[in-house]
Formats: sequence, structure tokens, C-alpha cells
Amino acid sequence: GGVDLECDMLVLGAGPGGYSAAFRAADLGMKVVLVERYATLGGVCLNVGCIPSKAMLHVAAVMDEVQHFADIGVSFGAPSVDLDKLRAHKAKVVGKLTGGLSAMAKMRKVTVVRGYGSFLDPHHVSVEETGGEGQDKTGKTQTIKFKQAIIAAGSQAVRLPFLPSDERIVDSTGALQLRATPKRMLIVGGGIIGLEMGTVYSTLGARLDVVEMLDGLMQGADRDLVKVWQKMNAPRFDNIMLKTKTVGAEATADGILVRFEGEGAPKEPQLYDLVLQAVGRSPNGKKIGADKAGVIVNERGFIPVDIQMRTNVPHIFAIGDVVGQPMLAHKAVHEAHVAAEVAAGEKSAFDARVIPSVAYTDPEVAWVGLTEDQAKAEGRKVKKGLFPWSASGRAIANGRDEGYTKLLFDEDTHRILGGGIVGTHAGDMIGEVALAIEMGADEVDIGKTIHPHPTLGESIGMAAEIAHGTCTDVP
Ligand code: FAD
Repeated sequence: GGVDLECDMLVLGAGPGGYSAAFRAADLGMKVVLVERYATLGGVCLNVGCIPSKAMLHVAAVMDEVQHFADIGVSFGAPSVDLDKLRAHKAKVVGKLTGGLSAMAKMRKVTVVRGYGSFLDPHHVSVEETGGEGQDKTGKTQTIKFKQAIIAAGSQAVRLPFLPSDERIVDSTGALQLRATPKRMLIVGGGIIGLEMGTVYSTLGARLDVVEMLDGLMQGADRDLVKVWQKMNAPRFDNIMLKTKTVGAEATADGILVRFEGEGAPKEPQLYDLVLQAVGRSPNGKKIGADKAGVIVNERGFIPVDIQMRTNVPHIFAIGDVVGQPMLAHKAVHEAHVAAEVAAGEKSAFDARVIPSVAYTDPEVAWVGLTEDQAKAEGRKVKKGLFPWSASGRAIANGRDEGYTKLLFDEDTHRILGGGIVGTHAGDMIGEVALAIEMGADEVDIGKTIHPHPTLGESIGMAAEIAHGTCTDVP
């Protein structure tokens, strides 16, 4: 048929990548159409990822913290949890943000088209309209003609093919629905998403097991940081199975009976009320008819791009989870701005030196740039400044001095290469380390920057002074 709508810029997918790209393109004067299959904007991050998980983690952290208050003379008694209200709270948090995005789209005159988009050729997509809460097709289809496009189709949870289909076996989206509190929960995959969700369920009363194929939890972070988290969190777990695989499961009336193989495998299959699959996410690149537009998608479903976020088809860009690791919202947003700016003729490029990672567990674990384990593996000589929070006035005052702040510097240039923080609010602090790396700061720059006292952030200045040999605050 004919063309129903024409635009300068078509953005496919309205996650952090897609909506950021659409807004920036509109701000730069383009007529923008944003295509999203779900009823709300915000993608995985706002609807079933970053935001709802953090809303629940905040509740869990407060619940845990007040339980420790008895030791300091303030007692609250055991918490009683109303899951319906908790879910409503989570929905309200999400709704506030996704509603805000819709308002911002309107303000910018971005046309939001609800439906499933698929390329027809390098200048057209067809959108099959969807309705209701999910992806139900209404039967209506429209064709949109575009001058340029940005693919921001995101990713979805990987499902283990040998696990049966059962409502007690969930991915992160299912886990965030908080239908009930299980007694025994298995987390398959010891990465950030699994451990965050595990934290929530454990605080609500579940006993946890975790199974991980590799030799440690929270891969990517330095082992010494993870150790601090693990020591604090050991009471949540019955069994941490490392170098172990889940090989099968059976749905029974009493629970999900799971079999394991490997170094940490128990001899007998184990019974769980809830099994969370958190074994990674796969990109949606193969589901958008990219081939019809001539856009190359690799065998894993990622779309290769250059530093201007262009695919092999110069007027079609791709950003976010669909272009590769790390699959993080802040990376998607940064790439989105680059793509929109390049499309508008600006000389933008993705030239970030580092992308920070954060596990919003309790304590938080955050890292950016070169890690100590990487430096060791590469045989690089680095100078380390490690400030233990047991010497931080604020951490002690908070009753949370288990953490520490670690910075790594180049031995020759003294410039900062990386940093890791474990402790409460580590995620809020790691941005300063990222800034220091981007600015090429050295030990003196960071150490001589006056940090407010008493804050946890001071520990960054102290760690720099320790590396420089001028710290007077640690024995
Ligand atoms: P997505 O958010 O996946 O959005 C893609 C959008 O495109 C979706 O809305 C999808 O419906 C739509 N779409 C796809 N194909 C089509 C199509 N053909 N037609 C129409 N629409 C389509 N990251 C962080 O940085 N911090 C965190 O704390 C964090 N926590 C997380 C917690 C969980 C439980 C999960 C699952 C993820 C978390 N992430 C976190 C990762 C983060 O959510 C993603 O990196 C981010 O959402 C990627 O953004 P995106 O725009 O690339 O894609």
C-alpha cells in the first residue's frame, strides 16, 4: 500500500536508547516518529529493569537496616509485608517515569506510534499496531517512510531451553511481578541482575541458592570487592554453587526439582519454590527485518556499528543493548545522543573512555575503567590506593564501615586508570572516578580536591592520597 506517515527520523524502540535518541533528534529540529510495541515508553529499563528493581531494592535495604537498629537501642519489630501494596508502589514509581516520558515526547512533538515495527526496505518500516498492556496485535498496519532511522530494539532475557515452562520458573520480568514470597529460591546465573533480585526476595523471607558456571559471582568486578559483598551477604544463602551448571529441572507439585552438574553440585536434585533465570540477555537484532533494509546483523543478533553509531547502511544507526556489551542504560543514552547528533550533521562520536558498572546490592559494588584483576592479568604495573571505610568517619557513623574505595594509577604518569568501590552508595560515588578518568586526572588532582567532610565520597580523595603517599588519615 501507500505511505501513511513520513518523517526525517524514525526511531525503532522506546527504551533509554530510543527515547533519548528521539528527544535529541527532535531538539535538533527533526520530525521524529518513535515506534514502540508496548503501551508505555521507557523500554526494559523503566518498565521491567533498572527502575522497578531499584524501587524494590530500596525497600529491602531499609527493611534490612532497621533490623540492625536493635543493636543500637532502637527496635521496630519484625516487618509485615503486604505484597499487593508493594506492587502498587512499584507500579506507581514506574508510572511516574513512563508518564513523564510521554509528556516529554508530546512537548517535543515526537509522534509515538504504538506497534511492532519491521523494515520493508532502506526507507520504509511497516508497523503492526498493538493494543492493551502487551503486544497483542490489532490487525491494523501502517507504513512509515523515513529519511534516517535509529534502531534501538534492545534485548530480552535468555531462556534456558531445557527448563520446563512453569509459572515458578521466571526471568527478571517475572521476578519483578512479586507474586509471592518463596521459601526457597534458586538464582541461575550469579550476575548483577540475579543477585539484585535475590537480595529483594531474601529480605522478603526467601532462602537463596545461586548457581554459576564460572568460578565467582558478579563477574567483571574485582574479586576483593566482591568478597566484601559476599561476606556481608553469606547469611542470605544456603548454597553458592560455583563452576556448576543447571542441567535440568522437573516441575512437581511440591516445587521445581533442579539437577546440577559440576564442582559445587549437590548430589541430590534440589527443590525450589521459585527459580530465577538470570543467565544474560540476547539482542533483538534478528526480529526487525533488518535484512530488508540491508543492515547487517551478526549471528548472535547484535548490529555492528562504527563510533558514530552508523550501521553498514549510512543513514541507519543502531544504539543500546542491540549493538553490544555492556548492556547498560547509561551506555544506551550516551550512544543515543551521538546517533541523533550525527544524523543532524553534527561532528559527534562515541569516544567515552570508560563506562561504569554498578551492582545495586547491599553493599553496592561499583567499578569503572581498569580493574586490578585486569591489570594483573595484563601484567601492567599500577599503583594502588586503597582506603578502608573502617577509617571513614561517615561510614562508622552510618554503622556501615565494611566497605572500601580503591583507585589504580599508572606508575609512570600517575594518571588514574580505574577504580572500584564496595559499600553503601558506591554507585552514587563511582561517577567521580569516571570523571577523573575522562579528565586524565592524576593522584594529586584527586587527592588535592577538597571533598566535603564527613562523606563517603571523601574516601576517593583519601585513596588518591594513599597512592601518592601523602595520606595522614589512615594508620
Ligand atoms: P530496551 O530498554 O530493551 O528497549 C527496547 C525497546 O524496543 C523495548 O521497549 C521494546 O519493546 C522495543 N522494541 C523492540 N523491538 C521492537 C519492534 N520491532 N517494534 C517496536 N518496538 C520494539 N541497566 C543499568 O544501566 N542500570 C541498572 O540498574 C539496570 N538494571 C537492570 C535490571 C534488570 C532486571 C534488567 C533486565 C536490566 C537492567 N539494566 C540496567 C539494563 C537496561 O535495562 C538496558 O541496558 C537498557 O534498557 C537498554 O536500553 P535500550 O534502549 O537499548 O533497549
